[in-house]
Amino acid sequence: MVSVTYTCPYCDAVVEIDRDPYLRDKSVTKDPKGDREYASTTGDYESADGIEFVCIGRADADDGCGRTFYLNYVKYDEGREVDEGPSLEDTPRFDFNP
Ligand SMILES: [Zn+2]
Repeated sequence: MVSVTYTCPYCDAVVEIDRDPYLRDKSVTKDPKGDREYASTTGDYESADGIEFVCIGRADADDGCGRTFYLNYVKYDEGREVDEGPSLEDTPRFDFNP
């Protein structure tokens, strides 16, 4: 398990969770996306499509705003990444396939 932090899109407070490092983050959004199943930070979020956070801040920092935001994992469909709009990385990526 690793500690990962996410920034609330409303108030910039940081929330922290422990999770498996292999999960890949796609984006953080204010609203849930489409047909995804979100788990709470106390739920089984490793088998969900993303995590529903409540912005409570961190114990050693300022309080959060109490609003809800969503982490979306990268989803794969038959081995290809499902395109659901902009990802965390804004940098263009070029894949050179032989
Ligand atoms: Zn917040």
